[in-house]
Formats: sequence, structure tokens, C-alpha cells
Amino acid sequence: EALSKILDIKGSIRVFCRIRPNLVTEKRRISEPVSAGPEKIRVKLGGTRKDFEFDEVFTQETSQESVFVEVEPILRSAMDGHNVCVFAYGQTGTGKTFTMDGTNEQPGIIPRALEELFHQASLDTSSSFTFSMSMLEVYMGNLRDLLAPRQYGRPHEQPMTKCNLNIQTDPKGLIEIEGLLKSHCLTRISIFRRGDASEAKSEVSKLWMVDLGGSERLLKTGAKGLTLDEGRAINLSLSALADVVAALKRKRCHVPYRNSKLTQLLKDSLGYGSKVLMLVHISPSEEDVCETICSLNFAKRAR
Ligand code: ADP
Ligand code: MG
Repeated sequence: EALSKILDIKGSIRVFCRIRPNLVTEKRRISEPVSAGPEKIRVKLGGTRKDFEFDEVFTQETSQESVFVEVEPILRSAMDGHNVCVFAYGQTGTGKTFTMDGTNEQPGIIPRALEELFHQASLDTSSSFTFSMSMLEVYMGNLRDLLAPRQYGRPHEQPMTKCNLNIQTDPKGLIEIEGLLKSHCLTRISIFRRGDASEAKSEVSKLWMVDLGGSERLLKTGAKGLTLDEGRAINLSLSALADVVAALKRKRCHVPYRNSKLTQLLKDSLGYGSKVLMLVHISPSEEDVCETICSLNFAKRAR
């Protein structure tokens, strides 16, 4: 309870930043353009320095476990009845999927959140909880159910995923799966609770965990394998999301949900009373510094 009070004081929208460690193929320079302080990121560009404030900063050394410790309070809010949206934002290759999904050895937020929700449900002896999970993708303005069995999918609405995907290595040594869709991937956990009086189970809240499409601007997307149309669709929905978050933050009466499929989809979970956690991912590398500044500016707008 004390924790949720602190969260309320700090506001319902929190913005964290995570810096990806240098890849083996990246040249480490004596003077890195990006440096981290507590709750602050400093970027050097030419002779100038810019500082950006965050609610929390995760450096290259921060473990998945330490990231999760900071995310955990928002899961409690979901159990307490708040709708919650956790977003991973950033340029392609900055670690969004690593943070959300992680690996077998270093599980990310989604697997840890499931474990934690089950744990919290088991501690509450006065009610019984039911969880349901969906995974969907927003691709070029269309929705696809990622858990629907393919042979039963309606071909017109759910185009078959391409088979025999090829694995490629990009110039930075990142493994890419050619043809894999690269738009927003959303995981939704619906939480239902049944109390002692055995009323019908009622939905308490929804928890969305969203791995957003790469935020890089159009000029560079070609190099990373996004088509122009894909890049454009992602950029449109990311700016629609930024507009919604900015309107919520400024307590506007009108929140512009209708401008993208992504924000329409999240409308009932992304409003007053909801908790939003934006995890902005940045690259440590000199060559990405312009994209890094764009991502930091996005964060500034949300915060
Ligand atoms: P994105 O989803 O933003 O495109 P990825 O999550 O695929 O980026 O990360 C790109 C690469 O960097 C992957 O090989 C990933 O394992 C690695 N990586 C990203 N963040 C970290 C981290 N914090 N620690 C270790 N490896 C990371
Ligand atoms: Mg990814």
C-alpha cells in the first residue's frame, strides 16, 4: 500500500531509460557519446551536451533482475485494479525485445511478470484469481492474433506467417530473421478475481506489455530491413501513442485515441486511473547518436 501511494505521488506515467551494452562488433571509443547518471542521461553531440531526466536509468551493467525490481510495483497496481501498460520504445537493435522477453538464461519482464502475478495470487487467500493471456500484433494497421492456430485462421484476416524464414546477419553482427514482421507486438494479461462471497468472477484489470516497433526515422529504416510502408506505419502509430500519453499527462479532456489502431486498441487501458511505464531504449554507439536524441526527446515529451 505504501508503495502504491509512492507511485501515485510520482504520477501515473513513469519513464525509464535503458542503455544497451556495446555489441562485440561495435567499436568502443575512449569518449562515449552517451553517459548515465542517476536518473539522468547525458549525450554529447559535437561540442554540446544535453541532459535528459528520467524516473530511473539502467546502465549497460544493469541486470534483468534489477530492471524487474523497478517494474514490479506497477504489477501490484494491476492486481489492485489499475489498468497498466508497459511499453518498450526505441530504435531497432537497442534491446526492446531483450527487456520484454529476454532469453532463457536472462528472462525479461514478461516471463518474470507472469511468475510474479501467480505468486501474488497465491498469497491472497481471500480471493481466487484467473488470468488470461493474449498476444497480438499490429502490423500496417491490421491486427493479428499471434496465438490463433494457423490452420484455423481465416486467410483473409490473418495472413499466414511466412514459412522458411531465413536468418541473416546485419552489418553490426546482429542476427535478423528475414521477413519476420517487425511491427508492434502486444501481450495482454486480463486479471479476474472472485471474492469470498462467490459472486461471478469479475475482471479487475488488464496488463499490457508492448514491444513497440522500431522508432528509427524513415531515411535509415531501409538499412535495417523495414520497408518504407512498414516504417511509415510504425512512425504514425508511435506519434499517435506519444500524443495520447502527452494528453494524459497534461490532464486534457480530449485524448486522441482514434488516430491509430495501436491507441484504439489500448483505449480502455490507457486512460485516467491507468498506470503507464515507458521503457526507452538507447544505443551507446556514436553512429546511433541522432536516433538516441530522437528517442530521448520522445521520452521528454512523455514525462
Ligand atoms: P530490439 O528488440 O530493440 O530490436 P533486441 O532486443 O533484439 O533489440 O537487442 C539487440 C541485440 O542486443 C540482441 O542480440 C540482444 O540480445 C542484445 N541486447 C540488448 N540489450 C541487451 C542487454 N541489456 N544485455 C545484453 N544483451 C543485450
Ligand atoms: Mg525486437
